Amino acid sequence: MGRLRRSRAHHARRDVHRASRTRVRGRDLDQIQMIDLDPKNRAALETQALDYEKPGLGQHYCVECAKYYETDVALQSHWRSKVHKRRCKQLREPAYTIEESERAAGLGREVKPPPVAALMETGDSVAAI
Ligand SMILES: [Zn+2]
Repeated sequence: MGRLRRSRAHHARRDVHRASRTRVRGRDLDQIQMIDLDPKNRAALETQALDYEKPGLGQHYCVECAKYYETDVALQSHWRSKVHKRRCKQLREPAYTIEESERAAGLGREVKPPPVAALMETGDSVAAI
């Protein structure tokens, strides 16, 4: 069989495509969630010193997206954008941790579920488990 699917092969998810690039690698979601969103670090990131190497001298930084903007207008319009809102939604979910990866590989410590008899006494439905 030849190529069948020609349309809708390129998804309009700009941030997803940018995240897969290694040339301009940004910060990962767990780094932002655990380090950058801490109020002290966030304040430091939002009030950076003048840096001539960074876009906009490093004065307009979006902490959630780990991205510099040229002007304050650009940053404001970015905050209203779909890309930023989607990123905020992703950051609200808990980060992928080492413990979770170990659990997925079957290495973590399992918590034994309570016995069925104890659940019946409390009135919870057994069918839910
Ligand atoms: Zn943003």
